[in-house]
Amino acid sequence: MSDSSLSPLLSARVLGLAQLGLIVLDINQHIVMWNQWMASRSGKSAHRVLGQDLFDLYGELRGQRLEQAVQSAMQSNLPQQLSPALNPSPFPLYPAGTWGGERVEQAVSVTPFNEGKERYCLIEVSDISTIVGRERQLRSQAEQLRAQSYVDGLTGIANRRHFDVALDRELRRAQRNDGQLSLLLMDIDSFKAYNDHFGHQQGDACLTLVAEAFAATLQRPADLAARYGGEEFGAVLPDTSSEQAALVAETIRAKIASLSINHSPAATRPHVTMSIGVATFDKDKLADAAAMLAAADSCLYAAKKAGRDCVIVYQQQQENAA
Ligand code: GH3
Ligand code: MG
Ligand code: MG
Repeated sequence: MSDSSLSPLLSARVLGLAQLGLIVLDINQHIVMWNQWMASRSGKSAHRVLGQDLFDLYGELRGQRLEQAVQSAMQSNLPQQLSPALNPSPFPLYPAGTWGGERVEQAVSVTPFNEGKERYCLIEVSDISTIVGRERQLRSQAEQLRAQSYVDGLTGIANRRHFDVALDRELRRAQRNDGQLSLLLMDIDSFKAYNDHFGHQQGDACLTLVAEAFAATLQRPADLAARYGGEEFGAVLPDTSSEQAALVAETIRAKIASLSINHSPAATRPHVTMSIGVATFDKDKLADAAAMLAAADSCLYAAKKAGRDCVIVYQQQQENAA
């Protein structure tokens, strides 16, 4: 033995300290090595398992991915990895000293090797419970953040939640100060036909273009442009009278038409257009969010019936009806 090689005692000590499971099988799948880490997580000491067939010891592993990996490693002499996503806990291993409860999550690799004339197979088992747990925690935090977000994921403008909060806040302000507040609801015309003709992905790109153009039209810092739902948008316009809101809506309508985005032949116009309903706060008739939204929505519906690509304002509609 050269001076630089490890003594058998030192090798045994290192194997005992290793923070991963090390199992060596011979060509008959009998266990010839079982380190301390495996013993403390499995509850089976080395002298109990040495010489046993691994797949007799753990009958549940028979026919499973690990047995296939061992067989194919022995035959092909190529290392194999078990996907932790598909095989999260192949061995019944538990946190040291707590046999029972949740198995530790495992990453398992299988490496064939030759020593002298004999073929062996090294199985390494790492405990990835902490990593998996942290990943789960990060994923759930990301989901929570998304749920609390005020930004629409597709278009980058405000989302429905932001719209609802802004409308509530501005309504309370208008009620307090007897102020003015208008609301626009808009909907892309014949958008189903657009998707059917150009595909959903191009539909998404069209939605984003329309959203950006609509948001850029609103000038005042307190105005809010939001994606209200699918292909519907909303605007909250504080300190804005019905007449002013009608002008803003007309500017938006004209802006979207001027983008000249080609529409499907099945649509009512050759280019993408939007219909818009306008409602304005009125402390007697339209005093809460539900009433204002219903009023704007009924105008939007009327705009669709009137041929699309137009603006209908709630008061005007009432006057017309009177
Ligand atoms: P109308 O002029 O009466 O509004 O007709 P429309 O076809 O626009 O109305 P409808 O409500 O029947 O269809 C809306 C379509 O918008 C249905 C759906 O395919 C599409 N849509 C909704 N959300 C999205 C989205 O996020 N991405 C894409 N690409 N399409 C969407
Ligand atoms: Mg719609
Ligand atoms: Mg539509």
